[in-house]
Amino acid sequence: MITSFNPATEAILAEYEEYGNDQVEKCLARAAQAQVQWARTPLAERLALFGHAARVLRERKDELALLITLEMGKPLAESLGEIEKSAWNFEVYAQAAPGFLADTVVPSGASDSRIVYDPIGLVLAVMPWNYPFWQVMRAAAPVFAGGNGLVLKHASNVPQCALAMQDVFRQAGFPSGLFTTLLVGSGRVASLIQDRRIAAVTFTGSTPAGRSIAATAGQALKKQVLELGGSDPFIVLADADVDAAATAAVKARFQNTGQSCIAAKRFIVEDAIADRFVDVFCELTRKLVVGNPMDAASTQGSMAKRSLRDELHAQVVASVKEGARLLIGGKAIDSPGAFYQPTVLDHVTPGMTAAREETFGPAAAILRVANATQAVEVANGTPFGLGAALWTGNADLARKLSREIQAGAVFINGIVASDPRLPFGGTKESGYGRELGILGLHEFTNIKTVWTGPARA
Ligand code: NAP
Repeated sequence: MITSFNPATEAILAEYEEYGNDQVEKCLARAAQAQVQWARTPLAERLALFGHAARVLRERKDELALLITLEMGKPLAESLGEIEKSAWNFEVYAQAAPGFLADTVVPSGASDSRIVYDPIGLVLAVMPWNYPFWQVMRAAAPVFAGGNGLVLKHASNVPQCALAMQDVFRQAGFPSGLFTTLLVGSGRVASLIQDRRIAAVTFTGSTPAGRSIAATAGQALKKQVLELGGSDPFIVLADADVDAAATAAVKARFQNTGQSCIAAKRFIVEDAIADRFVDVFCELTRKLVVGNPMDAASTQGSMAKRSLRDELHAQVVASVKEGARLLIGGKAIDSPGAFYQPTVLDHVTPGMTAAREETFGPAAAILRVANATQAVEVANGTPFGLGAALWTGNADLARKLSREIQAGAVFINGIVASDPRLPFGGTKESGYGRELGILGLHEFTNIKTVWTGPARA
């Protein structure tokens, strides 16, 4: 049984039977057929439907945002933002895809040498609950633009979102089956990857699940893109605008109730300005309003699952035992729901739990360092390499350090964010491959070389 459950009230919202073998088979057969037709459809016609998808998302934004909030607990205003971003993503690809998919002509003497980008087939998307629409839509737009179909195995706690997305594409006029939701548990993923109709897999989620998917896909010789966990550093150097950095830092840590792969998790601050940074950071953290995510006044909702809240709490407790100073929070909120106090830990050192592990919730770890060199060393001292933020007034130093930081993206004087125009992904144990931008589209195409010699007279 797949259960839609409200983590803020602990009410069961709906229950669904998992799809059995026959239903999965029917879905895959229909998806494969739809994809073949779609691949033959001219690009301009395919992209015309992207505008419809954006329109339907916006027309239904209140209903869809409500589903997000009900199933995973984030404040409603953030859910509305997620739907808007998903709509924008389709508009960006509608506009950019013709250029992204144009042949690349390679100068090669008398011959005509070019790279063309062909569809590869059905892409299996195994997705997480933290941005239940955005994560899927950011995969779907480039997959569809490239002439492929998408089969979704969504996280088991957001089945209503998964079904609603299928309905959005139906309403937008996409061929039936091109976007297919399968209501199945994670135990079904390996056999889906092995299915001959699945050409590739895109996975967003935790590093352990990524390892397992990569092993199965590797064995089946299927292309994979893995977007995994992160423990993003947020470096603040002494010459930065400290108040602006601390203000942005609070947003970077606590938005989405701290449950974002690219949330800043380790605040690495130069000693000279650390006290000022901590003061402003704490002052703003105290202003966060934890409460009913349906209430417009709440800036932080419920975490998505009690188990995740308990894991976060254990990480906070362990870090304090290891010597971190608890400045704010540090407790679950005693009420129904998976609410956790916004938490700030200061004087965290690299060996402590909050610095070593990914903290997927509203807890910030502040690490004090002597200088920029040490900041980069600490930033790179984890197995992760997703995003990084770097705050400094020195543009030359920023560019130099941005090349030394081991991450898929470095944002200078800003918050790490995904943007459909820019490639997104990680390095080290944060995964491989890229989503979004031109590279995200090319990931799921057959990049084909076509060489033509001079025709004989
Ligand atoms: P998760 O437990 O890995 O689940 C993600 C998806 O994988 C769900 O659909 C889940 O299905 C499925 N799954 C879990 N274990 C699996 C296995 N062994 N084999 C096949 N599929 C499996 O992750 P989560 O708790 O939902 O999300 C939080 C994690 O995702 C964090 O580590 C976060 O950093 C990461 N994340 C990364 C990005 C990125 O872009 N890099 C974005 C968002 C989140 P069930 O729900 O049925 O178990």
